[in-house]
Amino acid sequence: GGSAGGPYRVVLAGESGVGKTALAGIFGGLPDGAPREDEHPGESMQLWCADGGFWGHLSPQGEVGDWLQESCLQTGDAFLLIFSVTDRRSFSRIPQTLLRLREGSPHPDPPVILVGNKSDLARSREVSLEEGRSLAVMLSCKHIETSAALHHNTRELFEGAVRQIRLRRRRP
Ligand code: GDP
Repeated sequence: GGSAGGPYRVVLAGESGVGKTALAGIFGGLPDGAPREDEHPGESMQLWCADGGFWGHLSPQGEVGDWLQESCLQTGDAFLLIFSVTDRRSFSRIPQTLLRLREGSPHPDPPVILVGNKSDLARSREVSLEEGRSLAVMLSCKHIETSAALHHNTRELFEGAVRQIRLRRRRP
């Protein structure tokens, strides 16, 4: 929709286990794939989780999951590409996921934030802050590190998503 206010539809995409459900849960709690309206700084936000990063990963719902991911691509106002800083594989899947997202989105340049989650797990870290930053520069998107466990930077993340959506909507 092109309205200036909410609801803002924010899609959390990434490999299984990176923390999508945990991050979304901080803003209201939701089962995988289920939209949920949540009051956030005075405006409503719908959060969706896409497991497997739009790559046709079969969720327990089977084809419904695929359909859901397609519909996420179509209706998302902003996309959080989430990897775990403790899981290099989840990081290495990001470029493909972004490509798929940019191909599938009806918007020419949808707002995307690269999210390195689990920053609290310092000792099992496999992806450095600098690596995350430079990938974001390469892919022309924003970057933030979060910890869903400690609620570190989580408010900043969702406020950043809303800010980006508003900036796009203000454009002629
Ligand atoms: P999803 O498959 O992407 O939805 O991942 P989940 O949200 O289910 O998280 C997978 C596991 O990682 C769960 O055991 C979470 O408790 C844990 N987890 C998620 N985020 C964090 C975090 O920021 N720090 C730590 N230490 N654990 C986390």
